[in-house]
Amino acid sequence: MSRPQQVCVLGATGSIGLSTLDVLARHPQRYQVFAITGYSRLAELEALCLTHRPQFAVVANDEQARHLLGGLQAAGLKTRVLVGEQGLCEVAGHPDVDVVMAAIVGAAGLKPTLAAVQAGKRVLLANKEALVMSGALFMHEVHASGAVLLPIDSEHNAIFQCMPGDYARGLDQVGVRRILLTASGGPFRETPLEALANVTPEQACAHPNWSMGRKISVDSASMMNKGLELIEACWLFDAAPSRVEVVIHPQSVIHSLVDYVDGSVLAQLGNPDMRTPIAHALAWPERIDSGVSPLDLFSVARLDFQAPDEQRFPCLRLAREAAEAGGSAPAVLNAANEVAVAAFLERRIRFTEIAVIIDEVLNREAAAPVECLDAVLAADKRAREAAQAWLRGHDR
Ligand code: NDP
Ligand code: MG
Repeated sequence: MSRPQQVCVLGATGSIGLSTLDVLARHPQRYQVFAITGYSRLAELEALCLTHRPQFAVVANDEQARHLLGGLQAAGLKTRVLVGEQGLCEVAGHPDVDVVMAAIVGAAGLKPTLAAVQAGKRVLLANKEALVMSGALFMHEVHASGAVLLPIDSEHNAIFQCMPGDYARGLDQVGVRRILLTASGGPFRETPLEALANVTPEQACAHPNWSMGRKISVDSASMMNKGLELIEACWLFDAAPSRVEVVIHPQSVIHSLVDYVDGSVLAQLGNPDMRTPIAHALAWPERIDSGVSPLDLFSVARLDFQAPDEQRFPCLRLAREAAEAGGSAPAVLNAANEVAVAAFLERRIRFTEIAVIIDEVLNREAAAPVECLDAVLAADKRAREAAQAWLRGHDR
């Protein structure tokens, strides 16, 4: 039998990271954990090192590194500990690594994910913000390096599964009319509009169907997550924004659909558990057990669909406009959203002010061409400063 594939899990202490380690541990002959990374949850990272015995671990700073190394050496482990963005990029592009799970949340994942892409790895993309920020550059690097990019976002993984194998020839060439991107509608799908200004971070993070990190949970509640996913789908499948239609489907059983010119519509269904897309992308084109229980259609019983309401979810409109504007606009949208979501989680702003901030920052920062990574990072920085200035002007 061939040697086990060496896997680097960026963001191992998070929701996607832990689900990935769960799937990997089910297939020890097939996969070995080569590197894991954390940021604030050091005790969890240490426990993961003891279980998975990686060659490398990456932490945020030198003090954490000393602390972690002390614990690992005391347990007889030879794991090497690296630090910061440089350490993340080093493990992501390490010559011994075959597969990289990109599961750091937000813009912090951009450079390490790009390092994996540039090194030509099989890249499992959960960190949608990286692709949203740097779309054209990111896809250029994928094509230049020969990296195999596989989507982990459940919707994009579903779309990938419903596309013909040669979809890269172009959607028209393969007879695809539209991509139907499903959305649960989050916890506030039916909350009275006037109550949205007073919802709490706890309510926003209580997603009805999925258990996720806090940032993506708030994004799901505002439907910015679907907006980011719209942009993500455009890049992954080379689709114009007008070809991607958002469909609210509260049960989260259909994970997305592809509509063909002959009237066929293909969908991928399954229980809402991220281990399914993770296992799919790890093993593709083969299939492996993910630990997810089989879908019981009789207990699901019904599937509902409705059009999204942009008055309730202005972030969806803002994201579509940014997708259409192109250039730096998606990076600006993403950066303003990251600042606004963090401020909402810290109770500095109301839930409804997230969209207000993003709208204002997008209006101030005209979309500019982004020809290099520095231009992306500069747009990200300017947008963060503009969002911070808004916050200072509105401190309660
Ligand atoms: P979590 O918040 O649960 O995990 C985030 C991970 O990133 C943690 O390992 C965290 O470390 C690490 N991290 C945070 N900030 C930094 C930083 N500045 N530098 C380095 N590492 C950092 O998020 P999720 O797992 O839910 O989401 C991860 C990504 O996957 C996001 O981009 C999200 O949009 C995407 N995704 C998630 C889905 C889900 O079901 N959860 C579904 C589809 C996409 P620590 O915890 O130690 O601080
Ligand atoms: Mg998703």
